[in-house]
Amino acid sequence: MHFHSDLILNAFIILLPLIFYRLVYKYKNPVFVFLLFLVPLIITMTFPVEVFNSVLDLRGIPLIIGSLYGGIYSSFLLFGSLLAYRQILGGIDLIHYMIALLPTLVLILFIIKKFAKANSKKKMLTVFGICLFLRTTVVNLYYLLEGDANYFTDSFVASLPIILVQCIMATILVFMIETIRNNIQIQEEIIKTEKMKVVSEIAASVAHEVRNPLTTVRGFIQLLSDPTLTDRKRKEFSCITLEELDRAESIISDYLSLAKPQNEKLEPILLGKALVKASQILSSYANLHNVEIIINYDLPATVIGNKSKFRQAIINIGKNAIEAMPDGGKLSLKYVTDDHSRSVTLTICDTGVGMNSEQINRLGSPYYSTKDKGTGLGTMVIFNIIRGMNGHIEVQSKKGEGTTYLIRLPLHN
Ligand code: ADP
Ligand code: MG
Repeated sequence: MHFHSDLILNAFIILLPLIFYRLVYKYKNPVFVFLLFLVPLIITMTFPVEVFNSVLDLRGIPLIIGSLYGGIYSSFLLFGSLLAYRQILGGIDLIHYMIALLPTLVLILFIIKKFAKANSKKKMLTVFGICLFLRTTVVNLYYLLEGDANYFTDSFVASLPIILVQCIMATILVFMIETIRNNIQIQEEIIKTEKMKVVSEIAASVAHEVRNPLTTVRGFIQLLSDPTLTDRKRKEFSCITLEELDRAESIISDYLSLAKPQNEKLEPILLGKALVKASQILSSYANLHNVEIIINYDLPATVIGNKSKFRQAIINIGKNAIEAMPDGGKLSLKYVTDDHSRSVTLTICDTGVGMNSEQINRLGSPYYSTKDKGTGLGTMVIFNIIRGMNGHIEVQSKKGEGTTYLIRLPLHN
């Protein structure tokens, strides 16, 4: 029976949205979801499979799942496209078909808000139920409207097994989508947890840095209370006092900007500014470890990404570099743009202990760490964030000489 190959083709096309689901999750755009499910909808309608004298068309699966995951706009667009394309295919009473579809659309719109908040199990059950509802109401209503009152007993009951197969396929698809979603969510959680760990680890050095200006301020206030002080000296002292307080303030606000909750926005990032900001946040930590930070770049360059995530990646690399230089050293951040390939190469270089090739290869895998309190999540997060920006990382290192991170990112505009 040759329907098997058609069936497998159809089943495969239904799975198509899974491949691109990560993108949908990233951009969270209803039009994107609509387009993603429109393709299988059109293809399944164009190539229906005939099984046991009844037509197995899987159009209901992308229709239902795309509507429930995409939201109200996506639902209307998908139902509209279904009707429009059905009209193009011809041989149908469009008004009757529309009326037959209406109960399902209403049901979907009714539960769409609850669906978004439901857990995976509930989502699977819901899709199974709606699939069954759709397949039951649409054909029976349609033939009833067409005047064929015997359709239910003549044909529908016989096609029930096929309908159940379809509902099960829809449920499996939801299961897969949910697995992907959970995976993405776990990755996001790791990024956040890792950030909080960095925040707590550099807290001590920030506190230490703030203490210095405070001690200075204290000394000058003592001097100011001397009644024999000339006006000129008094002015000079209060000037220094204010400068030191400003310094303390800027150390604290840089630190707080790291701890601030992040949004998910993708935006143009000025690379030079991002490097300066990251180095400011790291400066207390660097000072405590006798590390000098050097920034170098010529032309301004812009890349696309999430600002705070990108900064987190730079800070993680810089923090590792500082930790690799227990006796102090130099941490250099620079970039060069390449107009020919429309890319920018960011180089983060340290003069620390370095790694051998086996250690380099293990970078990025969780739990690989050579530190007492290390987790190995730092580099995993770095790789994740840079990959999310369509970037590429290469690590060069020599034991005892230092490590260089080369990050290539596509240029914006
Ligand atoms: P952690 O810092 O918690 O150990 P990371 O994922 O940030 O976890 O780093 C993993 C390991 O990679 C570190 O323990 C260290 O051995 C090595 N490493 C990372 N960056 C450098 C570097 N710049 N120089 C030397 N070793 C490094
Ligand atoms: Mg680290």
